[in-house]
Amino acid sequence: ASEALKKQGTKGVKFARVHVIGAGVMGGDIAAWCALRGMSVTLQDLDMERITPALDRGKKLFKKRLRKKYEIDAAVLRLEADPTGKGVSRADVIIEAVVEKLEVKQAIFGGLEDKLKPGAILATNTSSIELERIAEKLKQPERLIGLHFFNPVAQLPLVEVIRSTFNTDAEIGKGAAFALAIGKSPVVVKSAPGFLVNRVLMPYMLGAVERVERGESKELLDAAAVAFGMPMGPIELMDTVGLDVGKSVATELGHGVPDGSQFDQLVKAGKLGRKTGEGFYKWV
Ligand code: NAD
Repeated sequence: ASEALKKQGTKGVKFARVHVIGAGVMGGDIAAWCALRGMSVTLQDLDMERITPALDRGKKLFKKRLRKKYEIDAAVLRLEADPTGKGVSRADVIIEAVVEKLEVKQAIFGGLEDKLKPGAILATNTSSIELERIAEKLKQPERLIGLHFFNPVAQLPLVEVIRSTFNTDAEIGKGAAFALAIGKSPVVVKSAPGFLVNRVLMPYMLGAVERVERGESKELLDAAAVAFGMPMGPIELMDTVGLDVGKSVATELGHGVPDGSQFDQLVKAGKLGRKTGEGFYKWV
């Protein structure tokens, strides 16, 4: 990242306005984080019922991280619901964090390409889909980069800045500069299914799921991983990521989730982990 930055000399690059599309687990938390770090943020979703809790999570974050009341109030004002996407044409950075489905992401980017400010960063938070596949339908595919945040956004500093074969140093340098501007630690990686972290992490999580499905205790397995030095066990992590997201990433990486397996049954029952109150564990 620092090399890309040096080459580009990003002096003078300002990121005042951020527009986030998708107010779920990730989009909501990315939006709140950017507002915490001083940016004006518009948050879009098809479903207002996703935006409202995301704004509430933002308020909690501001109260936790900011001391003075006027700072908290200012941050609350910087994070704005934008169900119709008016913020797109004003934004310096657009981050898409909707469901992990190629066609949905392609449709979103196709619909906003003509509305962008010149020079605005266009980014996807996809966990696993190769960037070229999302970008290939764009008139300017070189504009799209990956900015892959990790869950929970407020706690994990890493952001993978994903470079597609269409990108030049200019887009990557700007993406890394933006990550630094919001206090994150960017690492530039090539676009490949799962990029760097998920490519390594998913087989580990699926290995743990397979053990649980064969009768191993999930509590024991998670405790063993923590004793080994992991901050949280793999089954708890799968519940935190979301089982639907985990299944999409696994499939994208070529690891099937067998029909009728416990994992598959939980997804089909809408037991998606922390966000729905139950996954492998109960969270309520
Ligand atoms: P989520 O299911 O919590 O949220 C997705 C949101 O997108 C929903 O609120 C949905 O209403 C909205 N949406 C769907 N179609 C839309 C559209 N056309 N326009 C506007 N909003 C739309 O999912 P998530 O876990 O936040 O994941 C979002 C993205 O981030 C995915 O690409 C995922 O792979 C990636 N990601 C997830 C994690 C994780 O740990 N969950 C980590 C890193 C990256």
